[in-house]
Amino acid sequence: MSGMLYNEPSPLEVKILTRRFGLERPVRIDTYLATGGYQAFQKALKMKPEEIIEEVKASNLRGRGGAGFPTGMKWGFVPRHSLKPKYIVANGDEGEPGTCKDRLLMENDPHQLLEGMMIAAVAVGAQAGYIYIRGEFRKCLETVEQAIREARERGYLGKNILGSGFDFDMFTRTGAGSYECGEESALLESLEGKRGVPRIRPPFPAVVGAFGCPTVLNNVETFCAVPHIINDGGAAFALLGTPRNGGTRLFCLSGHINRPGVYELPMGFNLLRMIEEVGGGIRGGKKLKAVIPGGSSCPVLKAEECDIAMDFDTLAKAKSMLGSGGVIVMDEDTCMVKAAMRILSFYAHESCGWCVPCREGTTWLKKLLVRFHAGEGSRSDIDLIADVARNMLGRTFCPLGDAAAMPAMAFVEKFRDEFEAHAEGEPCPFEPSHREVLAR
Ligand code: SF4
Repeated sequence: MSGMLYNEPSPLEVKILTRRFGLERPVRIDTYLATGGYQAFQKALKMKPEEIIEEVKASNLRGRGGAGFPTGMKWGFVPRHSLKPKYIVANGDEGEPGTCKDRLLMENDPHQLLEGMMIAAVAVGAQAGYIYIRGEFRKCLETVEQAIREARERGYLGKNILGSGFDFDMFTRTGAGSYECGEESALLESLEGKRGVPRIRPPFPAVVGAFGCPTVLNNVETFCAVPHIINDGGAAFALLGTPRNGGTRLFCLSGHINRPGVYELPMGFNLLRMIEEVGGGIRGGKKLKAVIPGGSSCPVLKAEECDIAMDFDTLAKAKSMLGSGGVIVMDEDTCMVKAAMRILSFYAHESCGWCVPCREGTTWLKKLLVRFHAGEGSRSDIDLIADVARNMLGRTFCPLGDAAAMPAMAFVEKFRDEFEAHAEGEPCPFEPSHREVLAR
């Protein structure tokens, strides 16, 4: 059976992590070994741990889950000589709306993920690895578990791996579909069988992580890049991207474009080119109105801001974020009040309720936006939305509060005219308002 493809590849792609997608039986270990698989792991077994970490640092690989923290630096924080067991954890929760690439990596090339985690284990001296997979991803779970079984049978996992004296094994754990469990400390709670709420930090997981022990916790895509860094060298990987933003990135193009899909492109690829040349332009020949560049928690960009390099630093300068790579494209007919309402309804639903600014703030924002979209908002509510969001920012226990506040502020600031039009009690110019629907 050939690999599961969700879209036709683009000729502009630079296929590093996705190069086995579409092969015959890409998930099987024989295919992986026949295409260079596990060579990086064998190389890493002969390297000193600090050499592996230096290579990852040289690659300028930054966390692909959203925060963009330098991966090599994160691994360097693990106290290697601690007598406690050490763990490697892959975050495969992938709950950010607009993002769908970790699932693709696990379903199409699970051994690549396993190999990246094994190399991390050698680098920090870990004994066990856990792959935390979103509960709904049943196919991912089966595929990854089959890959773990195959790796054990061939001697890549277990005791005295390939005669090296290194012991390491891997296991899967599933969540129950909570967005909050994508946050690393909440994920660890869930992994340990507890309610998925965040932990007080510091200490950070590198020092006190899974089961109270030092832990390397990275996103699936981050681990998948590691075998290529060890095989080809950190410098070669870094050169694929822009300064401080090494490698390629899996961009999940969705929304009003002709060819939605997941595309692997160099870091720093221009967003307008991505929409036009990779995504085939806006559906129905319409004009571009706005783009959310990195998943629903990232501040929206107006069309005139979209001639921009897609890397962590450039987007931060533009007061948005690269996030998890979920590029949501909106055409000229999109109601931005409705878009904000949908996003805030999601965060109100997903708030774990543990801290007041997030629990109350997301609920307020949702109520205000629902009222607005129904044509029942007042002009003072526009400032109230921005004010509530501003008061949440930086005042919540985990990043979910910011994830809700930042898009709310950006929508109001950049599309205030649309909010004002709704405040006049006018029907939504883009679609029948709630009030009209109710009156029918
Ligand atoms: Fe829970 Fe929200 Fe507070 Fe995070 S910010 S701990 S999701 S209530």
